[in-house]
Amino acid sequence: MKKHNFSAGPCILPQDVLKKASQAVLNFNNIDLSLIEISHRSSDFVAVMDKATDLALELLDLKDKGYTALFLQGGASLEFLMVPYNLMKKDGKAAYLDTGAWSSKAIKEAKLLGEVEVVASSKDKNYNYIPKDFKIPSNVDYFHCTSNNTIYGTQIKEFPKTDGLLVCDMSSDIFSRKLDFSQFDLIYAGAQKNMGPAGATLVIIKDDILGNTNRQIPSMLDYKIHIDKESMFNTPPVFSVYVSMLTLEWLKDLGGIEAVEKLNNAKAELLYNEIDRNPLFEGAAAVEDRSNMNVTFLLKELTKKDHFDAMCKEAGINGIKGHRSVGGFRASIYNAMPIESIEVLVDIMKKL
Ligand SMILES: *Cc1c(COP(=O)(O)O)cnc(C)c1O
Repeated sequence: MKKHNFSAGPCILPQDVLKKASQAVLNFNNIDLSLIEISHRSSDFVAVMDKATDLALELLDLKDKGYTALFLQGGASLEFLMVPYNLMKKDGKAAYLDTGAWSSKAIKEAKLLGEVEVVASSKDKNYNYIPKDFKIPSNVDYFHCTSNNTIYGTQIKEFPKTDGLLVCDMSSDIFSRKLDFSQFDLIYAGAQKNMGPAGATLVIIKDDILGNTNRQIPSMLDYKIHIDKESMFNTPPVFSVYVSMLTLEWLKDLGGIEAVEKLNNAKAELLYNEIDRNPLFEGAAAVEDRSNMNVTFLLKELTKKDHFDAMCKEAGINGIKGHRSVGGFRASIYNAMPIESIEVLVDIMKKL
């Protein structure tokens, strides 16, 4: 039997998607060639790219609303740099919300290109909450935030209003919950958390926000070039894009974001209820900011840790060791995670 995969990333994908993907590696579309040995400019692959970008916009309800979807390389980490390159004016300024390690890395890159104002930070409590009462200055080129903090298990539930552009790193919760995605001007997400294998990054851009920086932008970092070339400026990560397309199809068949959000809420509730009920455990994140994707928790009686670890191993539970900067445990329960796996974990917590 397959293990219960709670890995934070790369992470669980639907079994059906993995089956189709492995078939396509051997013989894609019955053309007697592999998906990964044909030209990315062949009609078979161009259709994949078109479908993947189209589905991304459709699922986010951003079709025909002036947005373009791109599949790029370099991970979310390269977006930390591409965002300021494309949106921060020469001698400009950007505002950032610091909610964890990924936000901090984004801030570091932006500082290479201009002034950064960190409007608030939850570093004082090891990022276990989302700062709320902060002001976004009106003279900034954009405001950047991280919707879900994969390491700490916190999630922004309500996004701030800003006069300027709103940019969001949604790597670990894109397609997991219904939001008004049109409030964002730019969204990016590494594929490997909720969409596909590592190697592709989904970027959703409002078309009219580009071209205002007065900077020379290197070609590979220039969103405009990638838009003009329909994500084919250079060879795209064909396998990753294909598997992302399959996952998005799977999600659409499931009933889209609205349907998966219901499942995600039920899964998170099941696990948080046990964490709150069981005197042996405690949640690591502030209750009102808890993530529905990455559930972080601590075992209060450390003498029981070896026993708990052994029970998890015995039950085939994989990947719940907490990130070193938080400790304890982290159960990542992304879209493809079945509730049965969480039931297995909760059962062990009850028996401990
Ligand atoms: C994993 C992660 C990243 C980094 O993604 P890469 O694709 O490895 O560069 C950035 N932001 C968040 C929120 C993440 O979870």
